Amino acid sequence: MKVLVINAGSSSLKYQLLDTESQAVLAKGLCERIGIDGKFTYKAPGKETIDAKDVAMPTHSEAIQAVLDALVDPANGVVSSMKEIEAVGHRVVHGGETFASSVKIDDKVMAALEECIPLAPLHNPANITGIKACTKVMGPDVPQVAVFDTAFHQTMPPVAYTYALPYEYYEKDKVRRYGFHGTSHKYVTQRAADMLGKPIESLRLISCHLGNGSSIAAVAYGKSVDTSMGFTPLAGLPMGTRAGDLDAGILEFLMNKYGMDIKEMLNVLNKKSGVQGVSGVSSDFRDLGSAAEQGNTRAALALDMFSYGVKKYIGAYAAAMGGVDAIIFTAGVGENDAQQRMNIASGLEFMGVKMDADANNVRGKEAIISAIDSKVKVLLIPTNEELMIALDTAALA
Ligand code: ADP
Repeated sequence: MKVLVINAGSSSLKYQLLDTESQAVLAKGLCERIGIDGKFTYKAPGKETIDAKDVAMPTHSEAIQAVLDALVDPANGVVSSMKEIEAVGHRVVHGGETFASSVKIDDKVMAALEECIPLAPLHNPANITGIKACTKVMGPDVPQVAVFDTAFHQTMPPVAYTYALPYEYYEKDKVRRYGFHGTSHKYVTQRAADMLGKPIESLRLISCHLGNGSSIAAVAYGKSVDTSMGFTPLAGLPMGTRAGDLDAGILEFLMNKYGMDIKEMLNVLNKKSGVQGVSGVSSDFRDLGSAAEQGNTRAALALDMFSYGVKKYIGAYAAAMGGVDAIIFTAGVGENDAQQRMNIASGLEFMGVKMDADANNVRGKEAIISAIDSKVKVLLIPTNEELMIALDTAALA
């Protein structure tokens, strides 16, 4: 089935057209500056690339129209008519407690998505706009499916998702750990089971999604049982620019000292912290690596804090699951940064993790990077959230 996968942001929209039988990406690209001036990018194997071309996009509808025009273009398109696109899969950030799996979109689902807006006020409205734009441009008969970042983690037990706050904040306001990157954690843990040739129901896995945003998940016997992100994606590890876990008392101290309101404080925590904040150099691990090599001690500290943070979660989740069979590295840092992987795994020999330095010298492709006699396998698995979304969509459409 040919499935169009859409990841709609407030002023951007990423798309991929996938064939779920062959799992091939037929075309992909990006609409940017929606509501401003509009830039359109399109790439398809063997076809002419369109790179940041000016296309007027006052709303997401024009963006979707531009995507469809490109896909059916007689010269550079990949389908002969829109009818070949049998379904659309949308990445939706927050499904709250309502959605524990992907769902075919109808009026009831749309209403429930609207109800989830308070939980993700920046992201969910854009996702909803993307769905409405597809309905408007493609018509109501093309099935659409919502795939949630939070859904995979809905199997967490109360002991993992409850915050030690007055309980009514959970009961009344749904304040709890939700976790994110669920589509990625689900994809790589399924692939890990395939690579190990064992049923996922027999494995305890720790999935490390380390990118600009990072999260770790404990996946016991196929189910997420804990994860490092929380009510929002601000929790857990130090990230590119996000602080991760910190003492909430610091907020009052800094807000009083610098006269910041909560919005300014959150801007610091989301945009100016993490490895960027500590290093003062960059949020990009490549820049930090070069700076550290040239003797920048703050860049080195930021990198060490990151690997130390991941290591602590691995220890914690191994304890939570009563053991671990495999550790998975994925996303920008996890897939590309051999040094980070080595630093994270070193010192874990006591729990049966033994890396193979040669095998770890690899980037962006599936590989077993632990030594043959390592009790705990360590795997590099490039994530593929779009494929996961397309497969879920094909299954439900
Ligand atoms: P996002 O959370 O935005 O999806 P990605 O998973 O694409 O992030 O990860 C992007 C990050 O991956 C970059 O900011 C950079 O820190 C890191 N990265 C990408 N390539 C490399 C590399 N070759 N070496 C080290 N880090 C890399």
